[in-house]
Amino acid sequence: MDPILSLDGLEDTFFRHMQRSREIMTAAARKTGIVLDRRYADHCPDPGHPECPERMDVLSNMIQEPGMGEHFRVITPRKAVKEELIAVHSRDYIQCLEDTEGKACTFLDADTRTSPFSHDTALLAAGGLCRAIDLVIAGDLDNAFALVRPPGHHAERSKAMGFCLYNNVAIGVRHAQNHHGLERILVLDWDLHHGNGTQHCFEDDPSVVYFSIHQASSFPGSGKRREIGKGAGRGMTVNIPLLPGNGDKEYLALFEKILKPVAIEFQPELILVSAGFDIHIDDPLGRMRVTPRGFAAMTRSVLNTADVVCGGRVLMTLEGGYDLKGLQDSVRAVLRELAGLQTTNIEDIMAGADLEKLRVLLWQIRRVHGRHWKRLAQSLAAETNHAPSIAARLKEAAARIGAYLKS
Ligand SMILES: [Zn+2]
Repeated sequence: MDPILSLDGLEDTFFRHMQRSREIMTAAARKTGIVLDRRYADHCPDPGHPECPERMDVLSNMIQEPGMGEHFRVITPRKAVKEELIAVHSRDYIQCLEDTEGKACTFLDADTRTSPFSHDTALLAAGGLCRAIDLVIAGDLDNAFALVRPPGHHAERSKAMGFCLYNNVAIGVRHAQNHHGLERILVLDWDLHHGNGTQHCFEDDPSVVYFSIHQASSFPGSGKRREIGKGAGRGMTVNIPLLPGNGDKEYLALFEKILKPVAIEFQPELILVSAGFDIHIDDPLGRMRVTPRGFAAMTRSVLNTADVVCGGRVLMTLEGGYDLKGLQDSVRAVLRELAGLQTTNIEDIMAGADLEKLRVLLWQIRRVHGRHWKRLAQSLAAETNHAPSIAARLKEAAARIGAYLKS
């Protein structure tokens, strides 16, 4: 018997049961909120910039499609207040962004610039997520998706970066902790790019797990597997850099085999998702192969985990995603899953996974993180019988990485 499968099988049986229970629950729609506002189109970096106002137009149009809008409660955003910004950013940096107000164009870094209303838009992005968090924690909503821009996960404490001004998800985490008293929050970041700003905000903080899956060797260059946090936060940062070409089944396998056990052990009270859609198969900035069905399945996996650990409380916030049709189709799929309008069968997608290829990847991740997460250590111990097969696959993987770096 395959020891990996047999160990994972115990959890799989449990989650199959949970999934069936959840399918019954989703027969009744969930209360899902959407932060959506025309003012998110007021940030216009420059014509031709991939992070463009049209991203909001395609999402607004999609919500107005027959059979969509009536299932969601639209949340009107508010601006983030100074106290919320200071929990994440320096006063000097906040002042620097305030100084861009009304100016035609301010260059903040090589690919991040502002237009006259960019600062207001950024305040609405962070504040919109905070408002959605308030409603989910109060129980008025089961889950929500903040369809905001500009994105946030690259923004550092004192620096704009990678199209991001304020770090929306980090501000949301601190708001949930400082305003609502939450003690443990998990941030999942599935954007193509590593969320350097979010990681740096929480890397020495044991109250937040930052879990990122991203394309290896792409912008901003951080997010190596061995970046696992510092000091009291050591082990609470989980980075999974992936080679290009991975898609639905690989992402889903990582959600089910790594994210889920970490979440169950950590027991967060809330799951926030930096939802980037630049891992879509047609995205011009990425080389991943996730389809709308894959995004739906990833959402289903997160919801199943959230049902077990935090009463289903999931907040998503929009990060990247630059193919307009891919963005529209994928966000639609995620929203339908969040609201229980559809229940994607995870097992169908997992059935197509290349277990040999995944075994090596899973082994590598468990080896780094097994000392901090008991459930990953248990899975790692079960893999020792596969050492020869893993060694052979590691050699192949090293050759692939070498070829990729040369390409
Ligand atoms: Zn991105």
